[in-house]
Order: sequence, then structure tokens, then C-alpha cells
Amino acid sequence: LLGADGTVRPTIFAEMSALATRTGAINLGQGFPDEDGPAEVLEAAVAAIRDGHNQYPPGPGIPDLRLAVAEHQRRFYGLEVDPDREVLITAGATEAIAATLLALLEPGDEVVTFEPYYDEYGAVIALAGGIHRTVPLEPPAFRPDLDRLRATVTDRTRVILVNTPHNPTGAVLDRETLSLVVELAERHDAIIVTDSVYEHLSFVPEHIPIESLPGARNRTVAISSGGKTFSTTGWKIGWLTAPTELVTAVLAVKQFLTYVNGAPFQPAIAAGLRLPDSFFTGIADTLAHKRDVLSDGLRAAGFGVFPSDGTYFVVADAAPLGYPDAVRLCRELPELAGVVAVPLSAFARDDYAGRTASLVRFAFCKRIEVLEEAARRLAAIT
Ligand code: PMP
Ligand code: GLN
Repeated sequence: LLGADGTVRPTIFAEMSALATRTGAINLGQGFPDEDGPAEVLEAAVAAIRDGHNQYPPGPGIPDLRLAVAEHQRRFYGLEVDPDREVLITAGATEAIAATLLALLEPGDEVVTFEPYYDEYGAVIALAGGIHRTVPLEPPAFRPDLDRLRATVTDRTRVILVNTPHNPTGAVLDRETLSLVVELAERHDAIIVTDSVYEHLSFVPEHIPIESLPGARNRTVAISSGGKTFSTTGWKIGWLTAPTELVTAVLAVKQFLTYVNGAPFQPAIAAGLRLPDSFFTGIADTLAHKRDVLSDGLRAAGFGVFPSDGTYFVVADAAPLGYPDAVRLCRELPELAGVVAVPLSAFARDDYAGRTASLVRFAFCKRIEVLEEAARRLAAIT
């Protein structure tokens, strides 16, 4: 977490966004939209501030948001969740992930994730004194080798942490993989933690919430947040659903991390979760089009482009352009093309990073004209 000189190392996202601000480059690094989300949601927050929702909300979250989360689980996945005992509101998915791992892990416990992985996982596992084991998602399809997964989960595994749709690859895990995760968790008595912040940003027909699979429900902490779905990444309203004992354990940690957060944003996200189905299908369709625009632009610029089935992100290979080192390319890209992106190696450890050294993650959650301008600029790289 600290650099060699003892100072705090900024995350790759903070570093790249600072680079974008400093150089005026188009920021396709950190994943955040450049347009506001639905007016109903924004107006609900303004109304909540005016109506005096400005003091500490209840520790587990306001009852109406917990109810809205439970309604959402029923509407989209047919899951029955008790809003009073099986839902916890958190400061974004970030806090839900941190509080969950800190609650579940004893020093020396193993956590299995796929690799590459969202950077927070590695940091929090380290903070909790856990041991991080990974199963690689190899390009071009970014699917795990299921035998490798079988061999990595053992009786030492306390948590299997899955993220689908997957940041940074855009992969959406299939039923076979998720069923195997459940089977292995049952066999080795591990807890499943699932990070579903991109649940509504899947471009393939089915995002399967792992907690809906047989045997999963009583051993899964299912995490999501409103940031991506409602284009409100700065509001930091997240949640988890889990069996009561697990919610209680996570709440015990959460109360000393943030205690509570986002009083006026909680009712606003509740309003968002109650938007009609057409809103949810609409955001995925809009984003799939943006993926296509950026992917076509990257291809025209000479990158190799991998398929993205969900999230804000697409992975591209800079090797065909003559750049075998994506870290170097990303440092030079603002000057070279006026664009910021993130090397895939930022989400991986040395071994995997070495094998994928020429891969770059680009975010496409931007206005079409911004993506077209970025594509024009990237096409000028020689
Ligand atoms: N998990 C993944 C995979 C993410 O990409 C992000 C966000 N950027 C988060 C968790 C954190 O979500 P939040 O902003 O709600 O804390
Ligand atoms: N999840 C966002 C991304 O992957 C960034 C979140 C952050 O800055 N921590 O780009």
C-alpha cells in the first residue's frame, strides 16, 4: 500500500485521472461517466436535502432503501430477501468489499479471485492479513481454466470472490463457471463474495447472480452499488445482501469504518432502484453502442481489440501498433495522442502482468462524440 519511500501510493485510477487533468487529455482511464444519470434520481437527492435528510441515517441504512434493494432482488432475480435482516447499506461497493473481507478473514486465511482483478481486492486482503490466490483469465476470451480453479480452492480457502461482469476484462462469467464456484465453496466450506456493481451493464442476455444458484444463497455475500447503474459514482451508495449472521458480522466492522454515509443519496438510490425495466435495458443498450464505437475506433487505429460483454471497459492489445509495453504506452499516450488509458498490468501480479504486458484497458462510458474524438486521436499514432 506504501511506496518504497514510505509515502502512500495513489491508486492507478487516481494517478491516471491526475495525468488526464494535467495534460487535458481525454480520460478513458478511470471508469466514470461524463453525463448525469436519470433526472428522477438527481431530483430525489435534491428533494431529500431540502426535506432535511442531512443527519446520520440508521447504521444498516434507511429502511426504504433496504426495502428497495429487496424489491430489486425479487424483480430482477426472483430472490426473496428480508429487508430488515438480510440487507446492509454501505459507502459504495468499496466499503462493502472491505468490511466483508475484514469481517471474514483471520490472518493466513486464503482468498481466491480471478486475475486480473479490481485493485481493491489485493489491498484489502493484505490489510486483513489474508493470502491472495488467483486463477488467471487468459486472453482472448478471458475465461478461467476450470481445472485450475478446482486446484486453487482448498480447505485453506475462506473466501471465493467473484466479479461479474468483470472489471477490467469485460468478461461475463457463465453458468458453468459460477456453478463450479458454488460446488467448490460447498466442498471446502468457503464463503462466496460476489461483486456485481456492473450487474445492469451486461451486453449478453444473461448476467447470472451467483447467489441465485442452488446451494449458494446461505453462503454468499452479494455486493452491488448504485454508482454505475445510475451514473452516480461520486455518491458512494452501495449495499450487500447476505444471510443474517453474515450481515451482522459485516455490520460490526462497517460501523467502525464509516459508521454511515450519504443520508440524502440513500432515498435517491431507492428511487433509482424502482425505475421501470425500460430504464435498465436502456442503459445496457446505450453502453453497448458506446463499446462498439470505441472498439471500432481502436481497431481502425491498429490495436488488437478483445470482445467486451459488459462493464465500462474494453481491453486492447498495443503490440500490433509496435508497443509491447503497455505501461510505457500509457505514460506516453497523453502526449502522443491526448488520451489516457490504464495498463492491464495494474490489475495483476508480476506473472500474469508479464504475459499480458502489451494490453491496455480503455473506458467507453463517455459521450459518443468524446469516443469518436478519442478514436481520431488514437488513429494518428504511428
Ligand atoms: N468493484 C468493481 C469491480 C468496480 O469496478 C468498482 C468501481 N469502480 C467498485 C467495486 C467500487 O464501487 P463503488 O464506487 O460503489 O465503491
Ligand atoms: N472502478 C473504477 C475503475 O475501475 C475506478 C474506481 C476508483 O477510482 N477506485 O476505473
